[in-house]
Amino acid sequence: MNQLLENILENCRKYTKDGKLASYIPELQKTDPEKLGICVVTDENALYTAGDSDIRFTMQSAIKPIILLLALMDRGEEEVRKLVGVESTGKPFDAFNYSDQALKREHINPMINAGAIALCTLIDGETYDEKFDRLLKLVQKLANNPKMEIDENVYQSEKRTGSKNRALAYMLQAYGLIHDQVEQVLDCYFKACSVLASSVDLAKIALVFAKKGKLSSGEQVFSKEYAKYINAVLMTCGMYDGSGEFALNVGVPAKSGVGGGIMAIVPNRMGIGIYSPALDSKGNSCAGIKSLELLSKELDLSIF
Ligand code: GLN
Repeated sequence: MNQLLENILENCRKYTKDGKLASYIPELQKTDPEKLGICVVTDENALYTAGDSDIRFTMQSAIKPIILLLALMDRGEEEVRKLVGVESTGKPFDAFNYSDQALKREHINPMINAGAIALCTLIDGETYDEKFDRLLKLVQKLANNPKMEIDENVYQSEKRTGSKNRALAYMLQAYGLIHDQVEQVLDCYFKACSVLASSVDLAKIALVFAKKGKLSSGEQVFSKEYAKYINAVLMTCGMYDGSGEFALNVGVPAKSGVGGGIMAIVPNRMGIGIYSPALDSKGNSCAGIKSLELLSKELDLSIF
């Protein structure tokens, strides 16, 4: 397997040139766009790596499934469904533009920014610091890595410049989808996006979702039902508007982040973590997607 991963990276390294680093969070531009690393952890806990698999990067949107998970664990499915939908576009079959006059729960899903920001309000905790701490602890537990922490510079950078997310959050407030103080909710979201992880961490987290909530120790951290819920949402919305292509060419639930990470879940079989920060126009890692396409072909990973 190590050799297969090496070969895949060698084949896909050229695609790092097809993409660009995320620039709207200034701090993310300080990264080397040519890095590429991968980790696979199997259901028997065999761990394989190649390339820059131990480089740490900020999880960004790859933390969204865990925000959804904690909201489900804290409040249950009914309350989560009352706040956010599960549709990838949230538009009717004959829609031709975005001229909706209202923002409704069925327009947002947990894998886009608005949905993830809204879900931060459902995490239990007296304060937003406490909510974030509980989220970080859950991430650490899933990755079996108590050292995971935030990148203070990326966090401050996004907090300073995150006008679009600020606008989204105020829209959510205006339409009654969040009731707490917008800046506090955003602070929790920005911190969550700034959690540092390596490809190994992502692969281990992905494996817990692949094993439907079961840690390698045998502990069931969350119910199978929640794993099914999250994997299903990831299948349709995890790679943004690249989710259709990804379903065709890779065929497993996955989540990307603008830090360059992708976490891919092969139900019952393996967790995969990839890092390569040069992104395509949709905000997904170019070389990361190509590597997953090859790996999926080689190991017949598609669930379809
Ligand atoms: N922190 C980023 C943002 O909110 C996360 C987006 C992403 O990774 N796609 O814009």
